[in-house]
Amino acid sequence: MPNQRHKEPEAKIYSIKERLALRGYASESEEAMEYDWVVVGSGLSGATFAERMAARGHRILVVERRHHLGGNAYDTFEKNGVLIHPYGPHIFHTNSHTVFTYLSRFTTFRPYIHRVLAMIHGQAVPLPFNLNTLRALYPIRLADRLEEKLISHFGYGARVPILNLKQEHDRDLKELATFIYENVFLHYTRKQWGLDPEALDPEVTARVPIVVARDDRYFPDRYQGIPEDGYTRMIGRMLTHPRIHLLLGVDYLKERQHLKARRVLYTGPIDAYFDYTHGPLPYRTLYFRWERRKAEKVLPASVVNYPNEQTFTRVTEYKQLTGQESPYTALSYEYPENYEPGRNEPYYPVPQKENRIRYQKYLQLAERETSVRFLGRLADYRYYNMDQAVARALKVAEEET
Ligand code: FAD
Ligand code: UDP
Repeated sequence: MPNQRHKEPEAKIYSIKERLALRGYASESEEAMEYDWVVVGSGLSGATFAERMAARGHRILVVERRHHLGGNAYDTFEKNGVLIHPYGPHIFHTNSHTVFTYLSRFTTFRPYIHRVLAMIHGQAVPLPFNLNTLRALYPIRLADRLEEKLISHFGYGARVPILNLKQEHDRDLKELATFIYENVFLHYTRKQWGLDPEALDPEVTARVPIVVARDDRYFPDRYQGIPEDGYTRMIGRMLTHPRIHLLLGVDYLKERQHLKARRVLYTGPIDAYFDYTHGPLPYRTLYFRWERRKAEKVLPASVVNYPNEQTFTRVTEYKQLTGQESPYTALSYEYPENYEPGRNEPYYPVPQKENRIRYQKYLQLAERETSVRFLGRLADYRYYNMDQAVARALKVAEEET
């Protein structure tokens, strides 16, 4: 990791004058061209789609509401030189050879295995809850018995969602499930979503299963890492193409009459696109409190979760993700809250049955918009990881050629 600030992203960024030229006076701009696609959003979904279509000869205008590219994966160097992720810690992980190979064209990945600690009863223990966590929290004899039961019930290496473990009839396993539920999941989930675990689709808590192995890795995926010089540079390279123009600081929904193209690829919130006709879809978001310190390293791991005490959910020390060396360090504390358009950014679709039903209504509207394709975490209203967003964008680009 070079200890220096980003150079300007390499993709073409328009000045205000050029922007105005594009708004209805396109022929006066040297750079103007007729676009095949307006791609709304420069996150991983939009960038992947734009890159693929440009490579196949399409001319693309990427329109981004924020003043930087990269969506929530954006990273940036602070004044003191420390690289941070302003929208929260992003660790790339995937089992998809296709996605890994594709992104590897735009970056090398610094090998990094994510490990998380959780503060439980004043002790920092490994998360996901695994056989090491069991030994850290239980007296040795009881830990032996529970370990044996977990292995004989589920098999060594199994990954058991907490809501499944709670269904077990065996008394020991039931007690263990209650302990883990109450100390790891219940209060964290209430903070994160404002809901109990049962009120959400079971896949949400299943993201952090009970691991019947001595495996402390947060993600079991084959490929894991952090882009060597950051996500912004990686996505900047994806968008560096003579047939891709990038317009930052422009809200497509406010300017759409000026932004003409044959087709549109939209990666913003689907409910906003349809002016909330069927009511707003809820999103959760985070407020980040930042702490900068003159210190080599502060936390015992890159991320420490606080399931129970505190009103924040987790703390991240970014240098431990990026491997950057610096006399300074930066930490973020995450305070979940509701999304309010115009006040904060939508981070998490809320996976619940009633929201899926509402989303289906929007999907029906989307199917009638034949010149527009909807894609990404906000437009698909799906809790995608980065690799899933890229995989879906690659698939849609494939369908369009
Ligand atoms: P986004 O990144 O949200 O991009 C959408 C873009 O569209 C945004 O830039 C937005 O400004 C723009 N936009 C919206 N509306 C308009 C409009 N009207 N006009 C113009 N532009 C518009 N994934 C992992 O794999 N690993 C992780 O460790 C990880 N950690 C995460 C931590 C947090 C706190 C969050 C919130 C997400 C995390 N993710 C992680 C998920 C990851 O951020 C997403 O999978 C990925 O960013 C999705 O990309 P996207 O392009 O679909 O959406
Ligand atoms: N979770 C929890 N306690 C933890 C970690 C996670 O209850 O210490 C639950 C919580 O509901 C959370 C979900 O598992 O929203 C998924 O966690 P993950 O770390 O994947 O969330 P993300 O990184 O996407 O915010």
